[in-house]
Formats: sequence, C-alpha cells, structure tokens
Amino acid sequence: MTKDIATPLRTKEILARHGFHLKKSLGQNFLIDTNILTNIVEAAEIDEETGVIEVGPGIGALTEYLARKAKKVVAIEIDQRLLPVLADTLSPYPNAEVIHSDVLKADLEQLLIDKFSDVKQVKVVANLPYYVTTPILMRFLEGRLDVTSITVMIQSEVAQRIAAKPGTKEYGALSIAAQYYAHAERVMTVPASVFVPPPRVDSAVLHLRVREEPAAKVIDESYFFEVFHASFANRRKTILNNLTHNLGPKERKPEMEEALQEAAIDPKRRGETLSIEEFATLSDALYTRLK
Ligand code: SAM
Repeated sequence: MTKDIATPLRTKEILARHGFHLKKSLGQNFLIDTNILTNIVEAAEIDEETGVIEVGPGIGALTEYLARKAKKVVAIEIDQRLLPVLADTLSPYPNAEVIHSDVLKADLEQLLIDKFSDVKQVKVVANLPYYVTTPILMRFLEGRLDVTSITVMIQSEVAQRIAAKPGTKEYGALSIAAQYYAHAERVMTVPASVFVPPPRVDSAVLHLRVREEPAAKVIDESYFFEVFHASFANRRKTILNNLTHNLGPKERKPEMEEALQEAAIDPKRRGETLSIEEFATLSDALYTRLK
C-alpha cells in the first residue's frame, strides 16, 4: 500500500513540492489524520460495488481512502490549481477520477448516468467546504439525485441543526428540509487539530441515509416548504402568528385557524415543537383553503 497522504508530514511535503498555497475563500482545510478518514469511510459503509461522488478532494487525502474501498470514485474539485497535484497523488488509484467543476454548477444527473452505470449504488462522501455546506447538501437532496447516502464532514453546529429533533433549540427549517429527504445522524465530533489549517469552528461527521420516499406525503411540496419556513421565521412567535405574518395573506387568518384546528395543532404552539408529519398535515389543510 502506498504512503497515506493524510499525515502532517506528507501533506506538507506535497504542498511544498507543488508550491501550493491554501485558499481560505474555498474552504481549504485539509485532513491530516488517518483515524478520522477511517471513521468517515466506515460511517459511509463503502464496498467494492459502491460508486462514490466526492466533493472537493483537495490533495486527495479522503479520495485515496475511498478509492481503496470503492469500485469507483469521482471527485469534483473547483480549484484548477489542484488538478496537477491530484494527478500526482492519486496516480496509484486508477479507479479515482477527478472532474474540474464547481459542484453547484455541474450536471450531476448526467454525471450519475455517465460514470456510474456499472455500480450497485452511489454514495456521496466529502469533507465539505464549509462556506457552501447547505447549498451542496440541498443540491443532492432536493435534486432527488440517485444516491443512497451522504456522509460529510461539516461544521458541528450545522450538523446539530440538520439532525435535530422537534422540541430542541437546534430544530428548525434546515432540520425539516433535510429530514424530509433523509434520516440524519451526527456520527462524531471532530477537533480542529485534524485539519491544516485548523478551522475556527468545531466540526462533525454527519450521515444522511436518503429515503426512498420523502418522510411525508403532501399535496404541494413547494408550499410545504413555504409553510415550515414561515413557521420558523420568528422563533418566539406562535405558529399562528408566524403563519399570518410570514405566509399570509393576513386577512385569511380565520382560514389559518381552521386549518390548524383540522390538523389538531394548538395555534399557540411554536414551530419548533411540530414534527414533519404535523407540518405536512398543516400544509395540506392550509393549501386546500388558501390556494
Ligand atoms: N477532501 C480534502 C480533505 O479532506 O483534505 C479537502 C477538503 S476541503 C475542506 C474542501 C475542498 O473543496 C477544497 O479542495 C476546495 O477547493 C473544494 N471546493 C470548494 N468549493 C467547491 C465547489 N463549489 N465545488 C467543488 N469543490 C469545491
């Protein structure tokens, strides 16, 4: 087996040899701890029939760990300067391919067809650039891309919000948006010392097991999203107040009260106490009255 990329010494040597300077604006915090990589790959449950999409391979630290287990890894990297570095570090892994693109602009639907017709399942695994965590996760989830799980290193506080249960202070629109599409589990907390440079925030590994069907059935999905976003607009307000002020129109308050009654939700409750199923019932009751 070749020498691991993710050690402080080897990383330093690779960066120096290629004269590479890390760019903060691209969220370049590279992993230099092989135990963490082992934990990420284990949490992702990769086998030789699995295809992996990696977002942001950096100098290939996680990519090589994935390539040792998976059938194929396609790593999407925005920073062109990393391409020659990756060509060098990943040369022992013919099953790892690097694509130069912004993941948010890439045609991922086509990529899945082109690159992964010969695998049993595709999983997303990444140490994400923190400045675009939510858009990247929602691109996979909302886009209903054909991936079975997403295992990512992200900011700890965001992982907490995504995996939060109703009634907790972390629970909010992001929890529902993610849990509507996936079962969410915070796998482990990760100290800043395992990255170069160390990020200023704590990190965590999040595992999302994508549901075959969303967690609830609703008449209109985008209206459902509007309803729960409106319900969290002001966390101190009751659900009824949030709906009248943020979903509107205000003059339809009586119908909103009726809808809450039909959904068996006390109008004085706060959004953070409602489950996804309750939001779904409420959304349908509002939809039939207001739309
Ligand atoms: N996987 C490497 C590791 O664990 O050491 C690097 C992770 S680093 C936190 C994030 C990587 O994502 C960087 O290589 C960065 O250049 C890349 N990146 C940032 N924004 C991106 C985007 N929109 N699309 C694709 N890659 C991006």
